[in-house]
This record gives sequence, structure tokens and C-alpha cells, in this order.
Amino acid sequence: MRVSGRYAPTPTAGLHLGNLRTALVAWLFARSTGRQFKLRIEDLDRDRIQAAGDIAAAQIAELAALGIDFDGEAVWQSARLGVYQAVADSLAERSYECYCTRREIAESASAPHWDGYRRYPGTCRDLTAAERAERRAVRPPALRIRADNARQLVHDHWAGAVEAEVDDFVIRRNDGVWAYNFAVVVDDIAQGVDQVVRGADLLSSAPRQAWLTSILGGSIPEYAHVPLVIDQQGNRLAKRDRPITLTELAAIGVTPAQVLTMLGNSLALCGPAERVTTSTLLPRFDPDSVPREPWIY
Ligand code: GLU
Repeated sequence: MRVSGRYAPTPTAGLHLGNLRTALVAWLFARSTGRQFKLRIEDLDRDRIQAAGDIAAAQIAELAALGIDFDGEAVWQSARLGVYQAVADSLAERSYECYCTRREIAESASAPHWDGYRRYPGTCRDLTAAERAERRAVRPPALRIRADNARQLVHDHWAGAVEAEVDDFVIRRNDGVWAYNFAVVVDDIAQGVDQVVRGADLLSSAPRQAWLTSILGGSIPEYAHVPLVIDQQGNRLAKRDRPITLTELAAIGVTPAQVLTMLGNSLALCGPAERVTTSTLLPRFDPDSVPREPWIY
């Protein structure tokens, strides 16, 4: 199997500078290590994602405008529902229906975890068939995987060793949508991904995903979670009052080439006014020189 990195946007809006910077680092990381680079459109949540096709097409054009290219066809998660069902079926022995509401979990869960995430306390783990039937009549169930309090260690290229207890996390939500943590693992395995480079906000999901990768017989990928972009006030980059997408920046006269220079400069790969392409940045890339602090834009 050919080894590969990937970029996996959710088509909710145009990519902002933080997303583009992460995509650039993922591309540089994959290409500089001789890997393929795959694109996956994470469009499962159709309630949250309207006009996914148009937005994804715009995202692909934005990545291309910067010089970020991909191998093979883009994988659309919405076209893989049968695959997720088949994998979930193969986990039937390890999964169970959960009828808890968010509020019930918040009230019964142990204190929030180091990452602010509340581990599921296992309320529905051992219900009898009669109890399940009774609860199913009241509320459609989510599906959880039985993790048996596993502990999972992952190595992040920049954050180092991260170890966490894996809880019985959701693989299918109670609205029937396959959960992010499940689909991402099924697809990374299917796409031959052995290098996951993405935003630091997903570092806390890595132990759970690594654990599921092993359960499904895959090899755990290398992880590198890119420090986020923040504004002067220390907030995560958001579309409040300043142009941060390529389209918004183009409207004030900033070209994609200038954006690439800005991103390259933030990664210490080029001067602040140097004209570069992704090909000129590639031989200069060294993952160990990527700044560990958030980029203040
Ligand atoms: N689709 C996710 C996002 O846009 C990224 C998932 C991943 O890279 O694992 O935040």
C-alpha cells in the first residue's frame, strides 16, 4: 500500500488562513517525506452543511490557487454510507445503543477530562433487552463503542507523547449521522493514510482514533497537530470583522500568491515579501522548524 498524508475539510465555509496554513503544512509534510497527498470532503453532517458541493468546489479551487495538489479523486464521505454501515456491523459485538441526552451525560459524567471533554460514564452499557426496548420507544439511540477503559498513547510530532483513557465514544449519532471519530478512522485506513497532519484542536481526539484504528486492524498513523492561528486578543481566528478567507482577501487586493508568502513567512520558510510557490517552499520545509506557538495574525 502507498503511504499517504491527507487534508480533510468540512465544507461549511470558505477556508480561512488557519485552515490554509494547516493544509500547507500537511502538504509539505507529506510531499517532503515522499508521500501521496489525498483529499477527503467530510460532508456527513447534512444539517450543518448546506450546499456542500458548491462549498467543497470552492475549497478545492482555493487550495489549488495556493499550489496545493492532491493524488487521485477526492473522497466524499456522503458517498460512503454503506461502508460505514458495514464496518459498524463488524463491530456489533463491541457496540451498544445509548439513549442518554447531553444533559444526562453532563450530570452523571465524571469531572471534565484534561481536554475539557467529559468521558461517557457507561450508563447504557449493560442494559437488558427489555430496558433497551423501553428506552428506544422514547428516544432514538446513538451507537457507542465499548472501549473497556482502554488507555491509548499516541506520539505527536510537536506535542510529544499524549496518553488518554478512551471512553465508550459515539460511532453513530442519534440522528443517524456517522460520528466524526468513526468515519475519519474508517476513511484514513481506506485511503492508505499513515500521516495525519491537522489543527491542534483535534489533538485530544487522536488517542480515541488511534485506539479505533487498532481495533479495526489498521496501523496507527504518525500524528502532527499544527498550532492554531489566533488573533491579537488570543482568540481563535474567526470571521468577525476582518477578511480571512482567500475570497475576502482578494476583495481587498491580496492575491493568493501574497497569501502563500504570508503563510510561508509564518512558518519561517520565506521572507515577508518574497515571491514563492509551494514547490520553492518544499525543499526548505523541516517539520522541526515549524513554530510551536500559535501564529498571531
Ligand atoms: N474535517 C475536520 C475539520 O475540518 C478535520 C478532520 C481531520 O483532519 O481529522 O476540522
